[in-house]
Amino acid sequence: ITVAALRETAAGERRVAITPEAARKLRARGARVLLERGAGAAAGFPDAAYADAEFADADAVLAQADLLACVLPPDDAAYARLREGATVVGQLRPYGAAARIVALGRRKLTAFALELLPRTTRAQAMDVLSSQAAVAGYRAMLIAAEACPKFFPMLTTAAGTIRPSRVLVIGAGVAGLQAIATARRLGAQVEGYDVRPETREQVESLGAKFLDLGVSAAGSGGYARELSAEERAAQQQALAEHLKSVDVIVTTAAVPGRPAPKILTAAMVQGMRPGALVVDLAAEGGGNCELTRPGERVEHDGVVVLGPLNLPAGAPLHASEMYARNVYNFLELLLKDGALQPDFADELVEKTCLVRDGAPHFHG
Ligand code: NAD
Repeated sequence: ITVAALRETAAGERRVAITPEAARKLRARGARVLLERGAGAAAGFPDAAYADAEFADADAVLAQADLLACVLPPDDAAYARLREGATVVGQLRPYGAAARIVALGRRKLTAFALELLPRTTRAQAMDVLSSQAAVAGYRAMLIAAEACPKFFPMLTTAAGTIRPSRVLVIGAGVAGLQAIATARRLGAQVEGYDVRPETREQVESLGAKFLDLGVSAAGSGGYARELSAEERAAQQQALAEHLKSVDVIVTTAAVPGRPAPKILTAAMVQGMRPGALVVDLAAEGGGNCELTRPGERVEHDGVVVLGPLNLPAGAPLHASEMYARNVYNFLELLLKDGALQPDFADELVEKTCLVRDGAPHFHG
């Protein structure tokens, strides 16, 4: 079996789905690893670092791949050039993607979208949403610290004492908790907020304060559910007053398969201190702040709102190492005796499958 990866083509993408370590492990399982030339270069893995892979141009890789691993969905042309019956594994942006893959492949492709992995204990080692969210949360806080006109830590100097910045993280999932931990390491005074009640303990265990706004919205599978209009109004009212004393907000709130919940209104941002900063990690899904423009910097009455995109690509070496380990662990479910034999009785395989032998398998 040939396991392959291309050089990622999305704008700004620097990660790679197969690292030298993953290539070594795949080869040890009897797979041939075939990469597009330069596939890992932007992540810090030049071709020469891969002792266990072969290299070719994209056309040859697509023509020979039994299994294509990717970070972001391949472009349309790549889907169309994949060999008949090939399998694709990666973050395939599953909501609404199945029909496109079927149409573009036209040749019995099978596709697994790693975003669909159930968040069970057994799946943790394959959980790309978690590993990449951790990178995103870390980077979002560094971006916030860099853009903030204040220091994060308290400083006692001959020129006077500087008070620590007050940081609020909204959404305490994987990204939010990593953002909280990063802000704590930088010495800020940190608060965390989430609608899932179990996050209180997680926030507090990082040395941050839990902000209780009296709205609880646990959904299924460990995720939050969407708030009702009344709940959202209550949340916003309680939050607005609190924001007046905050220097930095990092928002990470998400509900799977739904647009990012709008939590910060323009009026709430307007009520913040001049010099205050919002870093909206949910920008990709439309943003948690009404003023967010994905990929842009917006200034509103002295408050800056940043909507950075694809943050994991900004720490490509470690992001790729984690991603490639997740992918390898998932591939172990698909490979038996050196051949591709996905076991659809396994819920991790079944639930992650987006297209099976050319037919849509998931209808999200
Ligand atoms: P996510 O990216 O879907 O959402 C981020 C956070 O936003 C969540 O904590 C969510 O509760 C919060 N949120 C949603 N709407 C909100 C609102 N209106 N106001 C405030 N906060 C809001 O979440 P995630 O980081 O992917 O993790 C979600 C859950 O999955 C967590 O419980 C996490 O511990 C769990 N998890 C389990 C595993 C596993 O066992 N394999 C792996 C990773 C995560």
